[in-house]
Amino acid sequence: MTKKIGVLALQGAFAEHISILKKLGVETSEVRLPDELDGIDGLIIPGGESTTITKLMASYELADKIKSLGQSGLPIMGTCAGMILLANKVDTNGKLPTGLMDIEVKRNAFGRQVDSFEIDLDIPAIGKKPYHAIFIRAPRIESAGSNVEVLVKLPDGTIVAARDGNILTLAFHPELTRDSRLHKYFLDIVNRR
Ligand code: GLN
Repeated sequence: MTKKIGVLALQGAFAEHISILKKLGVETSEVRLPDELDGIDGLIIPGGESTTITKLMASYELADKIKSLGQSGLPIMGTCAGMILLANKVDTNGKLPTGLMDIEVKRNAFGRQVDSFEIDLDIPAIGKKPYHAIFIRAPRIESAGSNVEVLVKLPDGTIVAARDGNILTLAFHPELTRDSRLHKYFLDIVNRR
């Protein structure tokens, strides 16, 4: 049976995720309302502006449902702002919508001069070929709990992708490259569930 992946479509780069998923032959749906979370096999929370998405998640009453689905094992991938929305600790104050992953995240972690950059990274979990990662005003993971598997670090040791069971977070934007290995990696998590 083909799997259906919901993409949170409140703000940010959701259309790009949907187009990659379609190329991979997966059924997709845009999620804006709580009912639209029913019947999906996985959820992607895209990059964008985490403060805006947090407010919209609260006003559309999505946050609690996403949290409980994540706690009951629904695979969720958060990219860039999506990572912030899944963390259980963030440097800036404010309400955390889900707290689903035991990571401490720093927003806009790369300063003004290099707030956007691209770099080839080794990500053993997706194969030997280097992965070209695009960072846009990205967050970083300052620390991760013992259950959390670190998937990739920058050359200076900064953690920029991690997984805790069904929850996957990336500080960069896999939807902006032609390399779909990270979406496939997420679909693997979905298919194995
Ligand atoms: N800087 C944004 C934030 O803090 C994240 C940027 C992104 O998703 N590209 O929410």
